[in-house]
Amino acid sequence: MATVIQEDLNFNHIVSKQFDRAAQYLKINPALLSQIKACNNVYYFQFPVRFSDSHYEIFEGWRAEHSQHRKPVKGGTRFSELVNQDEIMALAALMTYKCAIVDVPFGGSKGGVKFNPKKYTPNQLEKITRRFTAELIRKEYIGPGENVPGPDVGTGEREMAWMADTYDTFHPGGIDNLACVTGKPVSQGGIAGRREATGRGVQYGIREAFRYPDDLKPLGLTPGLEGKTVVIQGFGNVGYYAAKFLSEEDGVRVIGIGEWDSVVTKPDGLDIEALNEWRKGTGSIKNFPNAKTNLKPESVWDIPCDILIPAALENQITLENCDRIKAKVLAEAANGPTTPGAEDVLHARGVMIIPDIFLNAGGVTVSYFEWGKNLSHMRFGRLQKHLEEIKNQKLVGAIERLIGKELDREDKNFLVRGPEEIDLVNSGLEETMVSAYQHIRDVHYLKAPTDSMRVAAFIIAIQKVALAYEQLGIFP
Ligand code: GLU
Repeated sequence: MATVIQEDLNFNHIVSKQFDRAAQYLKINPALLSQIKACNNVYYFQFPVRFSDSHYEIFEGWRAEHSQHRKPVKGGTRFSELVNQDEIMALAALMTYKCAIVDVPFGGSKGGVKFNPKKYTPNQLEKITRRFTAELIRKEYIGPGENVPGPDVGTGEREMAWMADTYDTFHPGGIDNLACVTGKPVSQGGIAGRREATGRGVQYGIREAFRYPDDLKPLGLTPGLEGKTVVIQGFGNVGYYAAKFLSEEDGVRVIGIGEWDSVVTKPDGLDIEALNEWRKGTGSIKNFPNAKTNLKPESVWDIPCDILIPAALENQITLENCDRIKAKVLAEAANGPTTPGAEDVLHARGVMIIPDIFLNAGGVTVSYFEWGKNLSHMRFGRLQKHLEEIKNQKLVGAIERLIGKELDREDKNFLVRGPEEIDLVNSGLEETMVSAYQHIRDVHYLKAPTDSMRVAAFIIAIQKVALAYEQLGIFP
């Protein structure tokens, strides 16, 4: 008889366990630690939506606020059949820690509605989203200075625009209304680069992790991304952009992509853009030409590769399947993809785990830029762009005079051009990911070696949140 592996898969318990592992290293008042760990408030509600005169449906919705040590609180909005209160609370907690790690001055929150958005028409989705938002407004679980939702699994720019518009309708004349939600379309108060931000952050985070020969040597890896192979579970917003940006790095091959219905593999590297087009056309990645399709989604774990990126949901890598993993680096783009039991097994095997609360923080980082832009009522770069162009012109002119010839036209255009919003966003994001990684690395490898990079990341987060509480005069 096969042995049944017992593992607590309650996501909220898992995040608490991760917290406790780090808290052991800290000399912080236990009452303060309990306060930080607890989810402060959760709003659970049911709301009816009328789709036609004869057809009503009742939906279950949540918005959890994990910590208000900084305000507003921030976090995505999940539309999925799997949504439940424990999940939303766990995700809200992860938002608190992630924001602290990347120095985004927000507390953590998360919301969601339990339903499958794929089964509804755009009109129906609009009704559900607006009704959900109205409920958040009623209880002040949304607002530019209180609680700022963003996108998550099952939601995107369209839903964020509906939420912003609903909020605006209920707050006529509110000058900062647009800052009530992030991830909006650029034409409606959004910011360039937000859609790609989580995937971009994953690319920057992994690139930084591959810069330290001493860390990579025990894994048998050379520094730099050149020549590395990547497998990704999930081809949604995060997985797709992570795949796209990593495949654009010199010499990186994305050799496998897994989705809910199949896995496609190609040893010399998948063409990510073509795969995306194929999925748009056929509704699935399966049978992508010139690649191998495996109809067993869990076969994604068996593919030998350097970097494995879970970019779907929580609790994907468990005690049941972790032995199948052959990757040297596990780069967590999803929230909570690895259970503590699986993490222990992988560590014992020497796998490097780049933790979610750092690696997927690019989304909320760029949301922070969007929020700031909305509050300033000005596009990034507007003030300095022209000034920088004038300076650059002068500099290029001086160089040309000095070397006695004109620079190549393309180089010149690049050098002279002042920064656009997207340049500033990406540069701010890269700086954020690089310095956050260096901080985690410092704590994990150098200061007082911790069990894992996750523990180091939690230590940093807990210390920052504790400091904020102390500055607020609570727990002095
Ligand atoms: N869903 C994103 C995350 O899990 C955050 C969304 C946002 O608030 O920008 O990090």
